[in-house]
Order: sequence, then C-alpha cells, then structure tokens
Amino acid sequence: MDIEFKENFEIKNLTSFKIGGTVKKIFFPKTQTEFLHLIKTEKDYIILGSCSNVLFSSQGYDGTIICTTKMNRMEFRGTKVVAECGVKGPLLAQKALDAGLTGFEFMIGFPGSVGGNIFMNAGAHSQSISDTLSLACLYDKEKDDVVYLDNSMMEFGYRHSILQSGRYIALGAEFDLRKENKKTIKELMDRNLEFRKNIQPPLNYPNAGSVFKNPEHDSAGRLLDKAGVKDFDLPRAAVWQKHANFIINKGDATSEDILELMYLMYKKVKNMYTIELVPEIRFIGKMNKHEEEICQELYKKTQK
Ligand SMILES: Cc1cc2nc3c(=O)[nH]c(=O)nc-3n(C[C@H](O)[C@H](O)[C@H](O)COP(=O)(O)OP(=O)(O)OC[C@H]3O[C@@H](n4cnc5c(N)ncnc54)[C@H](O)[C@@H]3O)c2cc1C
Repeated sequence: MDIEFKENFEIKNLTSFKIGGTVKKIFFPKTQTEFLHLIKTEKDYIILGSCSNVLFSSQGYDGTIICTTKMNRMEFRGTKVVAECGVKGPLLAQKALDAGLTGFEFMIGFPGSVGGNIFMNAGAHSQSISDTLSLACLYDKEKDDVVYLDNSMMEFGYRHSILQSGRYIALGAEFDLRKENKKTIKELMDRNLEFRKNIQPPLNYPNAGSVFKNPEHDSAGRLLDKAGVKDFDLPRAAVWQKHANFIINKGDATSEDILELMYLMYKKVKNMYTIELVPEIRFIGKMNKHEEEICQELYKKTQK
C-alpha cells in the first residue's frame, strides 16, 4: 500500500507548542483502509491528531507516529454528523453552523481533531464532545477488529474517555446535533471566541492549552493564580500573564524547559494547598534523565 510517510521528520512545526525533535518515521494515512493497514502492520506506534495537547520531546522519538490529520472526511445527514478522526474541531464547528446545527460551538476556539477530542473528552463553555457523540467507530486492539461503542460505553468523564485505557483507537464518530437558528449559533461561537481572546494566549504564542486538569470542585487556574505562578518567567518559557494555567513557548523552548516550568507550578500549588495537580498535556517521546525525574513526579497518577 502506497501510504504517505516521512523519515527523520522534524515534528516541531506540527505541534501547537512548536516543540519536538526528530521522529524516526511518520505516516499520514488518508483513508480508513490505510489507517487500519498501519495499525495492523506497524509494531510500535503512537497515534496523533492535531498535536495540540502534547508536549513532544526535544530528544525526538525513535519509533513510528501515525498522524490522522489527512483523514478528514465528514458528512452531514439531517441532524446527524459523521466525521473521521482527523477532522479539525473548528472546521466541524463551522460546517455545523452552515447546516444550522447546534452542539459544536465549543470546538470553534481550539485546534483539536475529532480523535483527540474524543480521547480527551474535550470541552469548553459548558459543552463537551460527549454531549453529542452517539456512536464511536473504534479499532479494538484486543479483538483486532473494528467495533462500535455507543455513548454509554465510552466511559466519558472530565477530560477522560475509554480511549485512555490504550485498548482503542478512534477511527471516527457519529454525532447527534440539534437544529438551531444560525444567528443564535453564530452568536454563541462569537462569544466563545471573544472569551478566549481575553484570557488565552493566541497561537502565535505557542502553547498546548490548559497545562493541568481541574482538581475536583476547584479550578487549576484559580489555584495556580493564588499560588502566584503568573510571575514564573524562564528564559525560553513563561506562564501566560492573563491565565495561570497556560504556558507559552517564548520562541525556542525545549521540552525540558516546559517540564521544568510545569514542575515549579506543580510544587508551588502542592506546598501551598497540599493539592497535587495532574497534567492535562501529554508527554510524548524520549526523555533525558532530568525529564524522566520530573515526569515520574508529575505523571505518577496518569498517562498510559
Ligand atoms: C490554544 C488552545 C486552546 C485549547 N483549549 C481547549 C479547551 O478549551 N478544551 C479542551 O478540552 N482542550 C483544549 N485544548 C487542548 C486540545 O486542543 C484538546 O485536548 C484536543 O482534544 C486535542 O486534540 P488533538 O487532535 O490535538 O490531539 P493530540 O494532541 O494529537 O493527541 C492528544 C492525545 O490523544 C490521542 N489521540 C489523538 N487522536 C487519536 C485517535 N484517533 N485515537 C486514539 N487516540 C488519539 C493521542 O495519542 C494523545 O495521547 C486547547 C489547546 C490549545 C493549543
């Protein structure tokens, strides 16, 4: 099968953080058949979508990445939407607006793919992908087969889905939206964008969204702010001045710079509140000794 790939690929520019070293091999499947072929034949691989929730190692990765961004077919049938895993959220939100359908307005402001959004149960502004997903089409590694799970089987929770068990890969999903006046949808999207503009760094300040998950009944941003981390400013990475749960790459930051800053933030909150924040950003790739030590502490409660 003639599937697009690159060897010794500099992944940095694919990621929203603009950080990451050389990847031994990266595939860009365009169809489900190509994707399934890779999943079944490649031995050790990591699936990535828009790379907007990952901190990719500056030491790179000695294995294979399968990037889904070229699997971007979608279909609107009445109030139902079927989308492949690589479709980008903002495009899906825009198409839903064109079709007069509500439910995807939250996706307008961040670059996640359908697969990444399902993996993380991405959400914002009181909406999340679990609100509208009716059926997920997944590859089941244990059964070595394609399976369909309905919403109740997806173990959706706050920034959690069954995909995080490592057993499943999202191929695509079907969503059930609701008819709505286009003006109302557009107003909601504009409100969401305006809200972001005021507190979140724009993408020309490379970042990967919220650094830590909210602890139960609290907000990571609030705790970090109270702990005074907005002053944390390293030579190549800093906490965003308008929101303490965002880190920006000041230009040539390495994965080690970001981890170091994450660790400082984590320690400050832990010392002040005895709360151990859990990273939302996922680390991918090789680690040097220092990164390994930091990750052992930061990721002790997470990450498969
Ligand atoms: C400016 C900015 C704002 C953001 N705002 C928000 C927000 O408001 N709400 C929010 O929830 N998130 C937000 N994010 C974070 C991010 O966009 C989401 O977590 C998104 O869901 C990640 O999707 P992705 O395609 O980029 O996933 P990636 O970063 O590519 O991958 C994330 C994880 O998903 C896995 N994965 C990806 N595709 C698949 C697949 N097909 N099957 C199985 N596993 C897969 C990967 O292995 C990885 O572990 C923001 C990010 C940025 C940069």
